[in-house]
Amino acid sequence: MLDLILVGGGLANGLLAWRLLQTRPDVAFVMIEAGPTLGGNHTWSFHGTDVTPAQLEWLWVLASKSWPSHDVIFKTGDRRIGGGYHSIRSEDFHWKLAEQLKDRLRLKTKVTAQTATSVTLSSGETLEAKAVLDGRGFSSAPAWPCGYQKFLGLDVELTTPHGLEVPLLMDGRVEQHGAFRFVYLLPWDERRVLIEDTYYADDATLDLPTLRARLTTYLTERGLTVKTVHREESAALPIPLTGEAPVLERPTVGVAAGLFHATTGYSLPFAVELADALAARASFEAADLTPWLNHFAKRHWRSQSFFRLLNRMLFRGAEPDERVRIFESFYKHDEPLIARFYAGRLSRWDTLKVLARGAPTVPGPRAFRAAYSA
Ligand SMILES: Cc1cc2nc3c(=O)[nH]c(=O)nc-3n(C[C@H](O)[C@H](O)[C@H](O)COP(=O)(O)OP(=O)(O)OC[C@H]3O[C@@H](n4cnc5c(N)ncnc54)[C@H](O)[C@@H]3O)c2cc1C
Repeated sequence: MLDLILVGGGLANGLLAWRLLQTRPDVAFVMIEAGPTLGGNHTWSFHGTDVTPAQLEWLWVLASKSWPSHDVIFKTGDRRIGGGYHSIRSEDFHWKLAEQLKDRLRLKTKVTAQTATSVTLSSGETLEAKAVLDGRGFSSAPAWPCGYQKFLGLDVELTTPHGLEVPLLMDGRVEQHGAFRFVYLLPWDERRVLIEDTYYADDATLDLPTLRARLTTYLTERGLTVKTVHREESAALPIPLTGEAPVLERPTVGVAAGLFHATTGYSLPFAVELADALAARASFEAADLTPWLNHFAKRHWRSQSFFRLLNRMLFRGAEPDERVRIFESFYKHDEPLIARFYAGRLSRWDTLKVLARGAPTVPGPRAFRAAYSA
């Protein structure tokens, strides 16, 4: 009998599978993915400090590219921030994992029904295991009030070198268009770059032709022209303002279990943490896993309460075109604090410092109402 069936070959189950392959040859599992490849159409990025040194040791081999630092630019100035920054392209994630998974992997196979211990596949076949791990990502509209982080990314080849040495995580000098808007650039090589137009906006609408045109304008202003568009990705990630941790009726991993950073929407560090913790378990019985995962998800959701408060300040306290000033002032903090912010591990003292520096950017009464409008 199988120990585990991993439903969905996305980030969370992919990282878990990678960890099981490395550390638990005794665990019998299969991974079932509806799409033709693992990981879909994504670029997942993370700071080296988002994970522990031991985690980075097993994770970095999955990275498509790593850089020693990154930049941010706002109207008030620019800053280079030290520390490794890494990106995983889903096509690399796919081949590195698929090569190791071999016949443990079933692609183009949709799970049409599942319980905590069994799945039914689109072919009608049924599989059973001690536990089924549901890693199908966001499947329905969020149950909590939210804003959105929405973006369009173009992976392009330019006609001339772009001149970037390291990623530009935020170029906040751009016109804001009724949101907190910034442009993000990942230089793969001297002419190839992933350029993303990102908005912290109140609605999830993505007007792709307009966003494409804005990216072209941005590149033109930098004296750059696109030769080829290799890939396009877009999404609107829900950013929670309040709400409760999801109640897991059966073993669930990834964003479906609420395991993401409440302000950035990023989930990789928490998927890594869960992969380590799951791979170290002695028991994979669903009856034990469900309460254990509920505890993990609740603890994580609680750990994000300050970030949800910041989200309320951002979305409800600040005027949309003024939201950029919150991030502009945030980037005046010291590097260790910035690192702890992205890792989702701010201390109490950090939270006071973040609020004190952000306070002048949101009018007092509005900030108070936003913070306590849970
Ligand atoms: C465009 C985009 C960029 C992002 N960038 C980052 C980033 O840089 N860093 C970061 O940390 N986070 C990032 N995120 C946020 C988050 O990390 C990702 O959404 C992440 O992929 C979520 O991981 P997951 O495993 O929970 O779900 P997913 O990675 O979405 O995986 C779900 C998988 O389940 C499969 N599936 C669904 N239904 C079925 C079914 N019935 N049967 C079989 N398979 C099924 C899907 O095909 C998919 O492959 C990004 C999100 C988006 C949308």
